[in-house]
Amino acid sequence: MKRLIFLGPPGAGKGTQAKILAEFLQIPHISTGDILRHAIQEKTDLGIQAQAYMDKGELVPDKLVEDMVEERLKKSDAKSGWILDGFPRKVTQAEFLAKLLENLGQGGEKVVNLDAPDETVVSRLLGRGRKDDTKEVIRRRLEVYRDDTAPLINYYSQREKLLTVNGNQSQEEVFTALQNIIAT
Ligand code: ADP
Repeated sequence: MKRLIFLGPPGAGKGTQAKILAEFLQIPHISTGDILRHAIQEKTDLGIQAQAYMDKGELVPDKLVEDMVEERLKKSDAKSGWILDGFPRKVTQAEFLAKLLENLGQGGEKVVNLDAPDETVVSRLLGRGRKDDTKEVIRRRLEVYRDDTAPLINYYSQREKLLTVNGNQSQEEVFTALQNIIAT
């Protein structure tokens, strides 16, 4: 199974694990956060529009990220599979993605829910030092996660696409758990 969506609170280790697993599986790692940060660095229109939202820990408007994901999934290297990291982040985005994948003939996706308790994610984020990793912004990102993103756990569980991995263990242990779960 080579189409995976990574879900989980900020700081659960999604980005790290998605990157390692994508390299292992030889498929692209598509991180909406990375693409947006790159756009900000390059001062593209997308970056300029996204920056104020990201600095506050708010979600960037759906249309911006949806166009970005659509464009990326249409590239030829996405035909053999992908790991989506950071998208979808709310139910409207999940509905968009379901339609897009159907149109592209890229079904059969599974969702990995990388779970970790608040204490773990906050201390990891504070140790990371990204621009949006200040106490205030972290608090807001966790709220947004709880309100907008966590409902996706139910959404995908009802559609029998959800796999759960405990993110509250060492990087090696998480990776082993991921390898086991995708092999089943
Ligand atoms: P983390 O999971 O550590 O919060 P990300 O790199 O995934 O970090 O996301 C950083 C920021 O990028 C988010 O707080 C949000 O502003 C923006 N972003 C990323 N993906 C999306 C998305 N699918 N929808 C809206 N905003 C997004």
